[in-house]
Amino acid sequence: MAGLLAARVLTAHFERVTLIERDRFPAGPVFRPGVPQSRHLHVLWTRGREIVELLFPGLEDTLRAAGAEEVRVPADVLWLTSAGWRERFDVTSLLTFSRPLLDQAVRSRLTGPPGGDRKAVDVLDGHRVTGLIPRGGDVAGVILGDDGELHADLVVDATGRASRAPEWLAALGHPAPPETRVDPLLGYASRCYAIPPGFDPGWKALYIQADPPATRRTGGLFPQEGGRWICSLSGAGRDYGPVGETAFLDFAKGLRSPVLYEAIRDAEPLTPIVAFRRTANHRRHYERLPSWPQGLVVTGDAACAFNPIYGQGMSVAAVAALVLDRCLRDPRPGFERRFQRGAARSAAGAWLVATGEDLRYRETEAAPVRLRTRLINAYVDEVVATANVDRRVCERLVHVLALMAAPASLFTPVVLARVAARRVRRPTPVTMPARPA
Ligand SMILES: Cc1cc2nc3c(=O)[nH]c(=O)nc-3n(C[C@H](O)[C@H](O)[C@H](O)COP(=O)(O)OP(=O)(O)OC[C@H]3O[C@@H](n4cnc5c(N)ncnc54)[C@H](O)[C@@H]3O)c2cc1C
Repeated sequence: MAGLLAARVLTAHFERVTLIERDRFPAGPVFRPGVPQSRHLHVLWTRGREIVELLFPGLEDTLRAAGAEEVRVPADVLWLTSAGWRERFDVTSLLTFSRPLLDQAVRSRLTGPPGGDRKAVDVLDGHRVTGLIPRGGDVAGVILGDDGELHADLVVDATGRASRAPEWLAALGHPAPPETRVDPLLGYASRCYAIPPGFDPGWKALYIQADPPATRRTGGLFPQEGGRWICSLSGAGRDYGPVGETAFLDFAKGLRSPVLYEAIRDAEPLTPIVAFRRTANHRRHYERLPSWPQGLVVTGDAACAFNPIYGQGMSVAAVAALVLDRCLRDPRPGFERRFQRGAARSAAGAWLVATGEDLRYRETEAAPVRLRTRLINAYVDEVVATANVDRRVCERLVHVLALMAAPASLFTPVVLARVAARRVRRPTPVTMPARPA
């Protein structure tokens, strides 16, 4: 996704853009091995949704026509937060679809007939990039294994978590980037089900969160095209979502509410259960390097990958595409470095949200938790509890999660006052809300 969105931006600035992918692109919206995570729940938060539509106007209509569903958040979601059930305020809206459908829709628009400022894109699928062509300490293109080389003015590395950019930079004589890892040791297990005919319990999606450190299991059940649900179960601290038939259902039963288990118990499974465990928050700080080559930028998971449970990766990649566009509008020497700095800044809020939450788990592998993080988390607990019953605070919190606002917006006087007022009043906790408020 990072590569597709970056390529779209490049078409407005370069005569020729080539998309290189090691997989063969499938003709339809189906799984391919290069994106193994696509078998798991993928939510495109509001900021990402807006940017994708900005880059490809009308894409949402394509997704809707293919069966994507509008889900209001939290109005259509039964959402058990760490502090209890959330009232079903209408704050924002998601389109829900399978990841392969989104990929296919974006890819066909990118590689389809040009239009507006979008020039044509050449596709070189079935080709693996194995290195960079050096020009002194700079980059002049990519090496495609035994298939030769491709010269380019700019190379965008969007090869995901397994990016080899640190080694490639070293070969050019640049130092390795400092790295930060916060690993909650979390594993997903996912399966699709047919939505039972006539099923209408008053919600479209379920989100049952863990309450760390006491509980480590989270479950999401969201609709997708084709009358399906995708059910993703995850557990932190090595309490991995399991792939066995009985174990999967037992895990669902062990969530903090049985509602998800009750929904899938008798539903017809459409896929096998699949697992995924490569979920650490992992940041490569390219923005801190003392030297940076001309002709290269690194984006998406290759630069900053998140624990996926917070649904941020695609949206952060989308924001980075806009940062790239901004840098290319002013292509003075050094724009590559400005991009790395801008992209790092734009990912900082999402990083804070993901790692702040993950540091609540005792098992999380990271540097020792600082007092500041503990204090912020204690305050965020209060914000979450207040957001469950207070529309304005809920709006703020969801906007932060949806990458529409910075985490700092949770610390404004309005939010502080409402959080304090709730503490004084201590309203009765919300029971499971049946229908939208
Ligand atoms: C289980 C799970 C659930 C997730 N859920 C969400 C979610 O709900 N919302 C969200 O926003 N994000 C989610 N994410 C994160 C999201 O998948 C990524 O952030 C997003 O795909 C952007 O990644 P990317 O494009 O940088 O890399 P990738 O998606 O990993 O794509 C990298 C691409 O590069 C290709 N490639 C790799 N190496 C080479 C090479 N040497 N030569 C040529 N091609 C190469 C790969 O085949 C692949 O196509 C989830 C991730 C996981 C693991």
